[in-house]
Amino acid sequence: MTQSSLTETKALHLRPKQINAYASVVFNLPIRDAFTYAVPQELQTGIQVGMRVFAPFGKRKLTGYVVALASKVEVGRYQIKSIEDILDPTPVLGKEILALTKWLAGYYQASWGEAIKTALPGGLEDESREVFSLTEKGISALENAECGKTASMILMSLQERKRLNCKQLRSQFKNRGISQHLARLKQDGLIHQESTVKQSRVHFIIEKIARVITPAPSPEQIEKLLSRSPKQKEVYQWLQKGEQSIADLAQKIDNPADALRKLREKKIVEVISRKKPREGQGVSPETLPEAEANLKLTTDQQAVYDELSQSMEKHEFKTFLLHGVTGSGKTEVYIRCIQRILQMGKTAIMLVPEISLTPQTVGRFLSRFGRQVAILHSGLSQVERYQEWEKVRAGKVTIVVGARSAVFAPFKNLGIIVIDEEHDSSYKQDNSPRYHARDTAIVRAKAQNVTVILGSATPSIESRNNAESGKYQYLALNSRVQDRLLPVIRILDMKKERMERKNFSILSNDIKSGIRSRLDRKEQTFLFLNRRGTANYVYCKECGYVFHCNRCSVTMTFHGSDNRFRCHYCNHSARMPEQCAECKGEVIKFSGFGTQKLEDETRKLFPDARILRLDRDTTQKRSAFESMHKGMAKGEIDILIGTQMITKGHDFPNVTLVGVVHADLSLNIPDFRSCERSFQLLAQVAGRAGRGEVPGLVILQTHTPNHYVYDFVREHNYEKFFHKEMDFRRLLNYPPYTRLVALEITSEEEGLGETLAKKIKSAVSKLLKTHKGVELLGPSRAALYRLNNKFRWHIILRSASVRSLQSILENIRDLTEWKPGTKGKVKLSIDVDPVNLL
Ligand code: ADP
Ligand code: ZN
Repeated sequence: MTQSSLTETKALHLRPKQINAYASVVFNLPIRDAFTYAVPQELQTGIQVGMRVFAPFGKRKLTGYVVALASKVEVGRYQIKSIEDILDPTPVLGKEILALTKWLAGYYQASWGEAIKTALPGGLEDESREVFSLTEKGISALENAECGKTASMILMSLQERKRLNCKQLRSQFKNRGISQHLARLKQDGLIHQESTVKQSRVHFIIEKIARVITPAPSPEQIEKLLSRSPKQKEVYQWLQKGEQSIADLAQKIDNPADALRKLREKKIVEVISRKKPREGQGVSPETLPEAEANLKLTTDQQAVYDELSQSMEKHEFKTFLLHGVTGSGKTEVYIRCIQRILQMGKTAIMLVPEISLTPQTVGRFLSRFGRQVAILHSGLSQVERYQEWEKVRAGKVTIVVGARSAVFAPFKNLGIIVIDEEHDSSYKQDNSPRYHARDTAIVRAKAQNVTVILGSATPSIESRNNAESGKYQYLALNSRVQDRLLPVIRILDMKKERMERKNFSILSNDIKSGIRSRLDRKEQTFLFLNRRGTANYVYCKECGYVFHCNRCSVTMTFHGSDNRFRCHYCNHSARMPEQCAECKGEVIKFSGFGTQKLEDETRKLFPDARILRLDRDTTQKRSAFESMHKGMAKGEIDILIGTQMITKGHDFPNVTLVGVVHADLSLNIPDFRSCERSFQLLAQVAGRAGRGEVPGLVILQTHTPNHYVYDFVREHNYEKFFHKEMDFRRLLNYPPYTRLVALEITSEEEGLGETLAKKIKSAVSKLLKTHKGVELLGPSRAALYRLNNKFRWHIILRSASVRSLQSILENIRDLTEWKPGTKGKVKLSIDVDPVNLL
């Protein structure tokens, strides 16, 4: 790079009223330094920390973020370039989020710019976002030549071209400071600004709106025109109250179409088309639960709430672990706490795992808090996400309910962060920056004196341990509300089922008869299988050849519906071969099964039952969830089959049987957390049973019935499980006794990757001499050695001291070893506190 970087301490500590002659700018690039730019004089009054700017970078021009301003810089050896323009009238990043992203970048080994990008809604780097058009006032200003030269030219262009975005305007007006001109014109009401993103039209649906024409006809005219047509009059009266979509109108009046047509002919009413944002949350009024506002907290809930409110009243930073079995009323406690925070004039963030961001969860918050809530999830289009984010920034809402990235919600006066299902691994982002939303939330909370509630029925071992050590305050809800019983859990030995009962079906006799009696009693059943497809692998019976994905080192999964097999990692798919690729043998056998096969079998067994399958193959559209919810709630589904998608956030009181078809699946994953994950998953699934008045039954089918995890699951005994697991972690020196960092080396060329892995190892080994107490493991081939055509190695650093690990990482990035001449062919990525070691 050709520019000197500005150490931000120098820049940040300057007095107000300085001359902003220099800006320190970071970019969304894997380059850690901030770059110093000169600020042209005409931009100096407008520029602020946290704004996006457009700046030359190498041969390109890029969007960057101002992280500091200064009136002077030490003159370096390099020539300082100038900022081209400012892209925002007000900063997109407040001080708090800026500080948070800085921490995040340092801790998770990303650049500040990358961290900032993660904290902002997508598409902000697309400059074509703001579209400008002329207002009436603008037209007359132009006619009367009221404006200065540049401003008039801008208005003229807009008159000619109707709509222009920033980028178009900027290229037209080569002189600087266009955004200031635009800001002023906007302020004076001469132009109108709209936010759009390229291709955003596909995210909208067109809606027909009926409205009374302006100026509205006089009552006398109306009387004359409509006296003999009561229907038209009725429609007209509705529209008098305000414009309405035709769809809404049809809800109120039977067949309004004819009357509308006549009203249009009489030129009383007009119908216009308008873009309507999709209802991203998928919440239609009928899925809203009845008002729960008057629930009286149970004694347990009240005790927990009292503890929490004490902390909230003190406006202090404190983290609570709320450990409560499924259905113990945790959500109700969250809601009360949020209510309290709002009363104090503060704001709240509610994080939930992506897949539990169901219409049901969202509906519960909407029905309590209504328009005060913004929702952020991945099902939203870019425009919708931006709109929700903008609501937060503009202070139009006080609560955000969202997945991982909602931790960055730009609230100013934050009072509480709730993290539901805190153990969920989706809180960890799996690409750079690989941040953990829970840990990021705690850092944010500490800086802003915020109360944090981590809630779970099955807390992560780390969090439970933090509660043990006093770092978090432990709170428990030990029973379900209204003394509903926890379900009875039966462990079913599938080997015995085969040997003794000669039952070779996917479903044990117990599950079958269980379903039958549920069907008789009009109760519902969940069948859970955490694997999609029909067969988990395909092999030749003659030579034993197993079909693997030729890009990843995993077996291919057969999907019967289209007679193809598919890799569940890279999504590569191929037609089922007729014969074995190795021996040309004809026999290809399927072993194991997935949800699709389970569905087929279940349909055969219960031809009259109404069955629905929910997994990633059936939920391409978000509406699939919604219709499942409606179906379940209305009792139109008898048996719901699904992967872990069905395990979270759903509350269906009429589900009284849960069958786990292959409980061992998650136990066999080569990861030190596999027992923890299995316990959590099985407890979650089991928690779906008996949420109503009828106690539930859970049947776990397993080939290893003696595994200790099953004992704890059956007894609903998290505590015992925790202690057993801690013993095992201590013995093997795994977290929470230590912290880990995974260095992942990936390469398309096997040899190249291996060489780099070895080089890094020897370089890091040297560093270890000055960093006592840090261990290096590997390099080893990753459990998924080949993924998407890339070979993968892991080097694991392990230490009880976070600081030692961080200090090594500081040094690693300066190692020349990982910047080989073969740029791009080998990649090193760093995962701090990895949750997935496959
Ligand atoms: P969790 O979040 O722990 O799974 P929820 O808060 O969803 O538990 O509560 C489970 C069910 O119990 C919900 O249907 C909820 O409306 C109901 N519930 C919660 N608190 C109370 C209460 N104090 N009195 C009556 N019903 C309650
Ligand atoms: Zn693959």
